[in-house]
Amino acid sequence: MTERVLRFDEALSEVLSQAHSVEGVRCVETVELVAGAGRVLGTAVVADRDQPAFDRSTRDGFAVRAGDVVRALRVVGSLRAGESWLGAELAEGEAIEIMTGAPLPVGADAVVMVEHAEVEGGLLRVEAGRSLRVGENVVPRGAEARAGSVVLPAGRVLGAAEIAVAASCGLGSVEVFARPRVAIIATGDELVELDEPMEAWQIRNSNSYALAAMVSAEGGIGERLAIARDTLGELRAQVAEGREADLLLLSGGVSMGKYDLVEQVLREFRAEFFFTGALIQPGKPVVFGRIPSQKGWTYFFGLPGNPVSTQVCFHLFVAPMLRALCGRTEMAPWFVEARLTEAVKGGARVTRFLPAELAGGWDGVAVSVVGWQGSGDVAANARGNCYVVLPAGVEAFAEGETVRVLLR
Ligand code: AMP
Ligand code: MG
Repeated sequence: MTERVLRFDEALSEVLSQAHSVEGVRCVETVELVAGAGRVLGTAVVADRDQPAFDRSTRDGFAVRAGDVVRALRVVGSLRAGESWLGAELAEGEAIEIMTGAPLPVGADAVVMVEHAEVEGGLLRVEAGRSLRVGENVVPRGAEARAGSVVLPAGRVLGAAEIAVAASCGLGSVEVFARPRVAIIATGDELVELDEPMEAWQIRNSNSYALAAMVSAEGGIGERLAIARDTLGELRAQVAEGREADLLLLSGGVSMGKYDLVEQVLREFRAEFFFTGALIQPGKPVVFGRIPSQKGWTYFFGLPGNPVSTQVCFHLFVAPMLRALCGRTEMAPWFVEARLTEAVKGGARVTRFLPAELAGGWDGVAVSVVGWQGSGDVAANARGNCYVVLPAGVEAFAEGETVRVLLR
């Protein structure tokens, strides 16, 4: 069996390069606009008219000719947002009172802020010494977007900002990519389902649930298959079923133990492996590849069974691939930098990911490593909200040093 154990950065680029190669033949479905929140836009949104559709005043004030403000101007009318000026073209020496959001009357080329002006007896005077640029306090027609131009490309996740754009283009519904189906197989003789009686030495299958939740948070549909015992027969049956999903996730059974049979079974299915391990901790035995299926190929990840390993590997490697399968154009995991609240020892030959708590405030972002009992410690993992990255070979980090943090 040929092993391919990669450094962390190599493993990540391998995943990203596969993710970028995922083709855009995806089903699109139409959903009501707000129901589209969190979904991936399947068809670009195009401006249905110029935005703004008219020269828009950005202030309450007076529409004028900019060069005119050196003298007193005659106020000849008033214009509210939602109205358009029906009077004559603004002439030299004239001003029209105007509200934020109203269209600039023909003849005017700027707006004086009401705070900078005074009106007395129908005459407007601008504060002494204050000049006005042509275009000041006006957003010209089409400056935000031209009619027919793309305001949201396909592949963007719809959040509130994107939904506002779609609404501004008059869309009450949007076309989004269908969610990919992700088969989840937990393997292990020690595992017990949540509703089953158990002995002290057995372990509840928490990974299938964590994986289903992470899949759903990334826009996929997690399908939990039955637990596969560590036998070739059960693994073969579950892999045969799971490979017909859009992505196959296995937990457990990828280490060097006598009953770690996942890789062997995947090979029987003529799997192609991109890596069979990564120099990370937790998560070193992680495997990534693809397996022939009815639709051609299905990507799979074999995730080490320890719950923190499973989750770290998901955030690092599975999430980018899943985002690609969702049709997202942006897929790489997010790393930010933060100050350590206390010293941390590194020095390992692998890149380590330590459960940690990130807290952000006006004074900056600080991160504290959570005390834990190793990669089986689901409770410690849940006390954190991120992972501090300790790069391979770095001896130690001092209190106050800036470190990389993997967001989850
Ligand atoms: P493995 O990767 O199969 O060697 O599993 C390593 C350890 O992870 C096991 O001994 C269990 O303690 C734990 N484990 C494996 N699968 C699961 C699971 N589905 N849910 C929770 N813990 C698991
Ligand atoms: Mg196992």
